[in-house]
Amino acid sequence: MSYRGRFAPSPTGPLHFGSLVSALASWLDARAHGGAWLVRIEDIDGPRTVPGAAADILATLERFGMRADEEPVWQSQRMARYQQALDQLKPTGLVYPCGCTRKEIADSLLHAHARNTTLAYPGTCRTGLHGKPARAWRLRVPDGEAAVIGFDDRWQGPQTQNLATEVGDFVLRRADDQWAYQLAVVVDDADADITHIVRGVDLMDSTARQIYLQRCMGVATPEYLHVPVVTNERGEKLSKQNGAIALDSDHPLEALCAAARHLELELGGESPATLEQFYRAATSAWAKRMNVRASA
Ligand code: GLU
Repeated sequence: MSYRGRFAPSPTGPLHFGSLVSALASWLDARAHGGAWLVRIEDIDGPRTVPGAAADILATLERFGMRADEEPVWQSQRMARYQQALDQLKPTGLVYPCGCTRKEIADSLLHAHARNTTLAYPGTCRTGLHGKPARAWRLRVPDGEAAVIGFDDRWQGPQTQNLATEVGDFVLRRADDQWAYQLAVVVDDADADITHIVRGVDLMDSTARQIYLQRCMGVATPEYLHVPVVTNERGEKLSKQNGAIALDSDHPLEALCAAARHLELELGGESPATLEQFYRAATSAWAKRMNVRASA
């Protein structure tokens, strides 16, 4: 299968330095492989989506020289597809409606914490709703050895997570009637034939859930690469929520060179004078660093 990568920003504000690093890493990996690079706007989290932010992100990517090889996909236009994916799982018995409120879950986790046991969702509604109205839909995770999901991250090395003890049955359809990120991302990546996922390490904790969901849905598991995230002086991930400043579109080279340094890329020689020079040097530095041999 030929390489297909993607950048999947949530339009909660303009592109900032942290998201530029993820965009650049996914772009360079696609170019180094001679593959396609796609953009998906993750605009289904209604309350967090900022009007105009998606258009702003797309314009900034373009000005920074990163143009998607296909039309961007908008999650908000794919609601029927997510419903179909959930409906396909229903006859398997792998999903079930959950009537627990946030408070009930928090209370039971508090008790579990006091008993020093698992912090995962305790599976209260596995056996039925116990007279409560259905609020969300959850995916049943396996018990025992089968709950351990492992993958080899191309940057971070081998990873494992025990879904039963560390996560519990997780939400695919939220109580506030929104599609959960885990479901949307797996359906979208599968439908777009994504072969390689490159994103920030803050999302690595979701990867085992996504791999398990891929197996339940019978779709392929892509390769994963999680790059270090950019933090502020307090050590927090740089995000639109904690005031990361928007990028200066008039000076893309400065920000791109800084992003390349964050990715530990040696550009060598003099600083690039044009975007073209930058991408040429950065792509070969990435290929060398990540041991990529172009397939096309
Ligand atoms: N929309 C997610 C974010 O901006 C990224 C999802 C992904 O790359 O899987 O954090």
